[in-house]
Amino acid sequence: METILIIEDEPELVRGIRSYLEKAGFKVLSEYRGDSGYKTWENMRPDLVILDLNLPGMDGLDIARNIRRQGNTPIIMLTARVEETDRLIGLELGADDYITKPFSVREVVLRVKAVLRRAGKNEPETKKIHILDLEIDQDEMRALREGKELELTLTEFKLLSVLAEKPGRVYNRLQLLETTQGEAFEGYERTIDAHIKNLRAKLQKEKGDPPYIETVFGVGYRFRKED
Ligand code: CA
Repeated sequence: METILIIEDEPELVRGIRSYLEKAGFKVLSEYRGDSGYKTWENMRPDLVILDLNLPGMDGLDIARNIRRQGNTPIIMLTARVEETDRLIGLELGADDYITKPFSVREVVLRVKAVLRRAGKNEPETKKIHILDLEIDQDEMRALREGKELELTLTEFKLLSVLAEKPGRVYNRLQLLETTQGEAFEGYERTIDAHIKNLRAKLQKEKGDPPYIETVFGVGYRFRKED
């Protein structure tokens, strides 16, 4: 399921967009402030951000610039006036699309789908993740550390692959269970802990090295970001 983050300070607008997106099958996160919105982007690494321009705490332009510096999450900007749109284009900010208020919520959903489709097309056919000293080949379902293949079970490989794809993003146990089994059963969440434990043991080179997969207390797990 694709995750959309809405950063917008008008609660009614957020409610409207959220309900349409959820009906369309997206997972939706929302923040009313710019600063907390940016934090949520950092922690959750959503698939797309719907970003208002004028926000309390942190300006939408600053958020977009910071996101661009660190990654290529598609951004759809919400702007209040046409002049603001001009300002954005002038700044060559790197947003993937703009929507000028007022707009219909239906239109937002259509734009989200279009932007995601475009973004997906740019992905390379072969998917290899290089992170820290690991190479993860999602087509061949192999993981190598410093060129040497790690002997992982299918579940361990899937866990590693999902976590390493978005370093820093926190996943709870239920989400991880979903990615490894296709469907999740509540109550089986703790089995993830056992898989993570085995996976960590296989990844770790020497005792005392910082773990590749970090525990986020009370939430779940995330892959360590590169320094
Ligand atoms: Ca606003």
